[in-house]
Amino acid sequence: MSLSRLAQSIAESPTLKLNEEARALRAQGEDVINLGIGEPKNRTPIPAILSAASMLSAGDVKYTPTDGLPSLKRAILGYTEDHYGRAARPENVIVTAGAKQAIHTLLFSLLNPQDEVILMAPYWVSYPEIVRMVGGVPVVVMPEQGTFLPCLRDIRQAVNSHTKAVILNSPNNPSGMVFPDAFLAELVEFCERRDLYLIADDIYHKLVFDGLRAAPAYGFTRKDIDSSRIIVINGISKTYGMTGFRIGWAVGPRAVVEVMTNVLAQTTSCASAISQVAAEGALTGTQSYVESLRLTIQNNRDVVMQELAGLASVSTVRPEGAFYCLPDFCQYNADSGALAAFLLKKALVVTVPGKEFGMEGHLRLSFSGSVKDLTEGVARMKWALDPNSPNEIYIGSRRLVRDWL
Ligand code: PMP
Repeated sequence: MSLSRLAQSIAESPTLKLNEEARALRAQGEDVINLGIGEPKNRTPIPAILSAASMLSAGDVKYTPTDGLPSLKRAILGYTEDHYGRAARPENVIVTAGAKQAIHTLLFSLLNPQDEVILMAPYWVSYPEIVRMVGGVPVVVMPEQGTFLPCLRDIRQAVNSHTKAVILNSPNNPSGMVFPDAFLAELVEFCERRDLYLIADDIYHKLVFDGLRAAPAYGFTRKDIDSSRIIVINGISKTYGMTGFRIGWAVGPRAVVEVMTNVLAQTTSCASAISQVAAEGALTGTQSYVESLRLTIQNNRDVVMQELAGLASVSTVRPEGAFYCLPDFCQYNADSGALAAFLLKKALVVTVPGKEFGMEGHLRLSFSGSVKDLTEGVARMKWALDPNSPNEIYIGSRRLVRDWL
């Protein structure tokens, strides 16, 4: 069958694939623990439910303007003012079906064929595929040895006349790292000097621990939104745990948003009206849900760090935000794909191979789920990896036996 070479070259999403595998194993009655998925366990905030329910009961669910319902855009402007200290205008905002679509539409709107986009490893799995999907070339800059932070010198060296944009994600998926202010200041200054777009994927910016703050890129420029090359991506999936509603947005120069709006008009027309009003409810209702989610996740971070300390040969950088950590498992197995497959098969624990994020030898563990899953998941991993473990354990009524060395 003849299909697009480009489309066929796009890799399956490893995280979504692993979720499917976990779902299938569960359907067969297997007691699988999923430490792969980045999705909070919370219930949808009530104000979001009420907004969506009132639109549904009125039975008036129609197309919205392509760039989003004016009332949701107003809520996003308020959010931008509150969290970024920036007065954006409606023309600077576009609402999309999730942050993922915002990134796709943005890169489609920015890149000419073969334009390069700088990604900092470890990076979110979808960035390289989205860049390639729209005809661009992802260029990966590795972190400094033993850290998850690249050196600006390496970014400078990776930039050439084809470079169009840099993607920044702080707090970071998959490392949980919050980028230091000094690094951001240098990066913003560098991008401005070289006329590069700086795409700040801020989807985790409110999920930060220990009183830290993820400094917004806007804080390091004097330019206003229209003259700056910074484009901020955000959404409700993580902060409000509203992954299934599929609402995200971009805030950027009006000229960029205008092109993005035309692209969106020819693809999805607009994001779902029901989800948009739900997002508006979440943004304008009480924000106590966010703080309660943040505290839950911070506690989960403490639990996972404590449990991982029991794995003697694993070193883990303590996450400062988001809900992932990226322990180094090289001492057990430097092939993260093989290790993740082993853990799924032998201990029924889903993890994501670090190589998917540009960090071979590591595994990404999500701590967005329950404390019980975290403690039991890491205990199972320890059992499977530690040669001094007892020969067998019970998972529920299932007996697992060490049939390997
Ligand atoms: N950016 C990052 C860094 C993410 O981790 C995710 C979700 N895993 C997204 C964007 C996409 O979020 P959404 O559900 O809004 O599409």
